[in-house]
Amino acid sequence: MATFHAEPGLEHKLAQLVAPKIHEIAREVERQAKVFAPPTKKWITVADDKVRPTHVAAHGQEVPANLRFKVNSMQWDMQHRGLGPITYMKEPRDSSSRAVANIKNCRCHAQSIPDGISRNIRTLPPVVAGSTVTVKVVAEGDWVVEAEIGTLYPGNLEAQGAFYMQRAAAVVAARHR
Ligand SMILES: [Zn+2]
Repeated sequence: MATFHAEPGLEHKLAQLVAPKIHEIAREVERQAKVFAPPTKKWITVADDKVRPTHVAAHGQEVPANLRFKVNSMQWDMQHRGLGPITYMKEPRDSSSRAVANIKNCRCHAQSIPDGISRNIRTLPPVVAGSTVTVKVVAEGDWVVEAEIGTLYPGNLEAQGAFYMQRAAAVVAARHR
């Protein structure tokens, strides 16, 4: 029975050798994730003195396209529609939120921002530790995890995940098989 002992440090040298190749594959995942990433949307009011306070507070709020805006509820909706303190809307005047008072006569709109998520996706430099090379592709932002895997809001309102990171990794993995 013979046991192979690599030259001390050889595995580390090999890891350093393949690190640039692994980094390049990670960059591929980054580029693909940017293609798959959903846009974000921003709540915009008409900014005059008739905008209701709950929408004044929502002005400028930015969320991924597959998620919902968080808007303060109106008293009437809480008393008559059973809503909690927050109303979850896909866009202004979204009746699926079950709000009535909070959507009536609303003149707001949602502005789409195509690179809202993709601009926050990047590849970190490779880290070589012993015989292991680690390269991370990261998406940064308050809601990147919910945008990826989806979420469930109170009242059983479901947001589907966009799975842009998972799908990107799968596409690149298949390419290198
Ligand atoms: Zn409004």
